[in-house]
Amino acid sequence: MPRTITAVTGGAGFLGSHLCERLLADGQGVLCIDNYFTGTRENIDHLLANPQFEAMRHDVTFPMYVEADEIYNLACPASPVHYQFDPVQTTKTSVHGAINVLGLAKRLKVRAFQASTSEVYGDPDVHPQPESYHGNVNPIGPRACYDEGKRCAETLFFDYHRRHGLRIKVARIFNTYGPRMHPNDGRVVSNFIVQALTGVPITIYGDGQQTRSFCYVDDMIDAFVRLMATPDEFTGPVNLGNPTENTMLELAEVVLRLTGSRSKLVHAPLPKDDPVQRLPDITLAKKTLDWRPAVALEEGLERTIAYFRTIL
Ligand code: NAD
Ligand code: UDP
Repeated sequence: MPRTITAVTGGAGFLGSHLCERLLADGQGVLCIDNYFTGTRENIDHLLANPQFEAMRHDVTFPMYVEADEIYNLACPASPVHYQFDPVQTTKTSVHGAINVLGLAKRLKVRAFQASTSEVYGDPDVHPQPESYHGNVNPIGPRACYDEGKRCAETLFFDYHRRHGLRIKVARIFNTYGPRMHPNDGRVVSNFIVQALTGVPITIYGDGQQTRSFCYVDDMIDAFVRLMATPDEFTGPVNLGNPTENTMLELAEVVLRLTGSRSKLVHAPLPKDDPVQRLPDITLAKKTLDWRPAVALEEGLERTIAYFRTIL
């Protein structure tokens, strides 16, 4: 019997490569679509020998003429450094990418999953953030290319759902970390670990009292697969993340302890529009997906540190 073919845009990235791996392990065929802007072929090297895996170099801002039984849309740079590198391309990737993925899903009559983000809440004035909160996004700031691009992509997903009856699954992903994060992508977990392991100062932006919640990658991928398998009536958006809040100073202390590093902490300016606090309300995910993160921060950091030791 032919296998299910799952298309994964952004499949050579951090989350995408873990998703491809998981889908293959579940016995599905995978078509990875990526332009390698922030993803790498090393991330999927170990999958290339698998006859059920196919990698296609393609920019999602252009239409995709492929066949698949379901589509996960993950293509988009996720770290502030990378998405601000070419902000117009970032907006195009989210918006044109969503239009192309949705057009494909409509033609194929298949489910489409959107990797949305906690950034749709901007710098939130409601805490923790439930899905019903509409957010506080600066539409003209340096983060807007990403935040507004992702918000517009959600709009497109819901309009295709209402207008064309398309089956959609929208995940609002909160900060996720783990092996295969790019060492230079500028996100806080990879920055702190690389700095600690190489003995250079740990860069705390601002006073370090801003908060985030960190979810280990395996937990996140499990939530993606559960969300895709929900009944058609369930569209999301659904928050996916770890409901434990940490300041950046606390994160730095844990990384220093787990690496045994003697790096000093240095303070650097807080980037513009950097959210002060962020914490997911995951009540909906618990109820509809029967899911909650299982990997504690220290355990996940230990696995991530072990990965970075191998590549540095
Ligand atoms: P990543 O940068 O590692 O992966 C993104 C992938 O998309 C890369 O492989 C990149 O080459 C590819 N890509 C970028 N532009 C493309 C284009 N125009 N055409 C084709 N491919 C393109 O980031 P990630 O952390 O794996 O994030 C994956 C998705 O999850 C993104 O959509 C991101 O917005 C979302 N997300 C991630 C997090 C997180 O904490 N990791 C949080 C919220 C949302
Ligand atoms: N951050 C930091 N030092 C770094 C990188 C990031 O203090 O070297 C802070 C950043 O200002 C933000 C938090 O860590 O408050 C999370 O940043 P990241 O870029 O990982 O993700 P996002 O801001 O998109 O949640």
